[in-house]
Amino acid sequence: MDDSYQVIVVGGGFAGKTAAEELGRKGVRVLLLDANNYQQFQPLLYQVAASQIGVSTVTRPLRSEFRGINSVRVLTAEVTNIDAANRTVTTADGSSYRAQALVIATGAVPNFFNTPGADEHAYPLYSVADATRLSAAITAVLDEADREPGVDADVIVVGGGPTGVETAGALAENVKYLVPKYFSPELAARCHVHLVDMVPNVLAAFSAKSQAYARDRLTKLGVQAHMGTAVGEVRPNGVTLKDGTVVPARIVVWAGGLQAGRIITESGLKQGRGGRVDVQPDLTAPGVEGVYVLGDSANITDADGNKLPQARVSGAAIGEVGGPQYLC
Ligand SMILES: Cc1cc2nc3c(=O)[nH]c(=O)nc-3n(C[C@H](O)[C@H](O)[C@H](O)COP(=O)(O)OP(=O)(O)OC[C@H]3O[C@@H](n4cnc5c(N)ncnc54)[C@H](O)[C@@H]3O)c2cc1C
Repeated sequence: MDDSYQVIVVGGGFAGKTAAEELGRKGVRVLLLDANNYQQFQPLLYQVAASQIGVSTVTRPLRSEFRGINSVRVLTAEVTNIDAANRTVTTADGSSYRAQALVIATGAVPNFFNTPGADEHAYPLYSVADATRLSAAITAVLDEADREPGVDADVIVVGGGPTGVETAGALAENVKYLVPKYFSPELAARCHVHLVDMVPNVLAAFSAKSQAYARDRLTKLGVQAHMGTAVGEVRPNGVTLKDGTVVPARIVVWAGGLQAGRIITESGLKQGRGGRVDVQPDLTAPGVEGVYVLGDSANITDADGNKLPQARVSGAAIGEVGGPQYLC
């Protein structure tokens, strides 16, 4: 058991990395653990998935980010167990670490809401690995449809929140601007992008003006929206909606929701909505000493008691004028 650190931070995303930086600049001895040796910039994952940018644009090596902050040690290791009560973490190689304070910032994982077939057949989009896998799958479908006349290359995006809207928009941009250029206009005519959500409007959590703008942009890009009906089943060749409508497609992208991962479930911490920890205003987890939960792993309220969203849209693009430049 290594107990030489004052603080252990699990997860080097936006939340954990910022916490480790702030502590490190104050000279606190921090161990930062992440399963990857890079921080991923999730807001642009949809462009990686659409092959419009490369992976290097959305990843930053964690060690280089901490160059010059000597009291922070970065370790690439998957944490397999968190014992919150004892502020102890165990990594995949069996090593254990204990500290005076534990910061949990492990983000989130897809929530398929027990939709039959979704786990097996849908492509989630919450990590660099997800984005590159999806990009490769879409490319393979395009290549196959290019070889075989008459084969369609439709994609369904499930979830009309920010991730789904951005992804559907980027894929439709490809169909409009890039597929005709790099493949053929004839193939582009066999590529359709569908957006499905159980609620009637896209961007349901946003203003009516934003919803109308997004809907208008998506329509102009050719996205076919199927709103107001939940997905009943995901199959290898499309989805069946709960009203019985069958929407065929070669690929189904899942942007339908998030939940805290297994690591939180097994930590002994009490879980609230979405499996996240309902933290107190100072981000401490209730019922244990010295444990903080940050970012997408936590349900956080503002000073007035309002729940903060896990994600805020930064005005990311749907439908840039003139379209994207690359189909990488
Ligand atoms: C496609 C997409 C688009 C988005 N767009 C926007 C946007 O435009 N604007 C915006 O504000 N927000 C956006 N968000 C949300 C935003 O990216 C998240 O709210 C933010 O990344 C959460 O930060 P975090 O540090 O809590 O988690 P993450 O950034 O997910 O970081 C969690 C880290 O923990 C590590 N980890 C997880 N489990 C383990 C383990 N067991 N062991 C070791 N390491 C582990 C992971 O490798 C990861 O590095 C978007 C999210 C997605 C998925």
